[in-house]
Amino acid sequence: MSDQVNLKKVVFVWPQEPWKPTSLFKHIVYLGETAGYISRYADVEVYDFSVTQMLKRDMYEILRKADYLFIPIEAYTAVAAVRLAHLAKTTEKTYVVAYGTVAAMNPKLLSYYFDAVIATGHWYNALKELILDQEAFTRKLQGNIYYLAKHMEDRWAYPLFDKMPLDEYQKIMNGQLDIGIQIGCVFNCSFCAEKRMIPENKIYHRSPQDIYEFVRDNPSPIYYLDATTFSYDKEWAYEVCDLLSTINPLPKWRTVTRVDMIDRDMIRAMKKAGCFKIGFGIETLAPSLQKSINKLFNEKKLIENLQMVKEEGIIPRCFLILGIPGQTAEEVRYTNDIMKNLGMEYRWKEYVPFEIIPTFKDIREFEMFERNSYFMHDVKGLSKEEYIDLLAVSR
Ligand code: SF4
Repeated sequence: MSDQVNLKKVVFVWPQEPWKPTSLFKHIVYLGETAGYISRYADVEVYDFSVTQMLKRDMYEILRKADYLFIPIEAYTAVAAVRLAHLAKTTEKTYVVAYGTVAAMNPKLLSYYFDAVIATGHWYNALKELILDQEAFTRKLQGNIYYLAKHMEDRWAYPLFDKMPLDEYQKIMNGQLDIGIQIGCVFNCSFCAEKRMIPENKIYHRSPQDIYEFVRDNPSPIYYLDATTFSYDKEWAYEVCDLLSTINPLPKWRTVTRVDMIDRDMIRAMKKAGCFKIGFGIETLAPSLQKSINKLFNEKKLIENLQMVKEEGIIPRCFLILGIPGQTAEEVRYTNDIMKNLGMEYRWKEYVPFEIIPTFKDIREFEMFERNSYFMHDVKGLSKEEYIDLLAVSR
């Protein structure tokens, strides 16, 4: 497509965040890989205002020449995204599109500010359709919302690193390189936005060959293979491991899977391929809370599996949630004590009440997600100090 004349000009922007980000996988996957995909069909520029700044007039000049402005929106960037949309609309020409988590969760509210909101499905398809045939695309809008979920069939793109602020990213990632390898999920944990964006009951996989070539051709001390459940499709996971294990020197990588989706053979294959750490979303060990968030694990089996991962020489890293509605101090301490006693690497993260996003009627309501304070959910019996201490310490 690169020899096509009169390519459309597309600008991708990650809006300003209130604080510097500590993890970048959404920037790489939602912004960078989408830009990589769209660069097959258009002349693309990428800006990430969470790590770089720009004069308003310079941004205006860029937008003035752009046909499209594409903005992935998270809850903590929604207000800044709307500011960007306002700026773009003063150019009269630029067509402004919202996609990502908030677009999926409250498309109606965003539709007041954007020319189009991609509410459902893999946005690659929708954005490509818009660029190639805007009339056909707009005919499919309801209001200005695009609800059509289409399966992701094209070859996945790599992040458009040469147009992204990699030097700034490296300061945050300490040499780690991220790449998305799965999207969508067959599980339905109540606190997770994945299902909202990709409603079909399916996990889409990047091809093992693509993953292999990315790692082989982009030498890095560490890779983060961004997955929803790495070991869900065992055949695919073994193929990825087989290919990665042929790279010399062996790449060092980490990923995420579910603790109930592993066995010793899989963990051995991952270790052999260079995996050094696996993230597990444990969230809580209290059965009643597990039920309320729709993520049930058998505690005995969970502990056995975590120990098995350790025995095989991979670090299990457990993610826990603090502030789940109804959670008590006893439940928090129970989970914390088990993690401590097992000698696990773990970290608590505060519960973010995503479920209220669809109820928002005013964009300013998103300010509550700007991380200016802690949510301070009322965990019965837990002092403020204990709450903050748990969040502050990464073990
Ligand atoms: S298993 Fe993970 S990705 Fe899937 S719904 Fe639950 S939290 Fe989300």
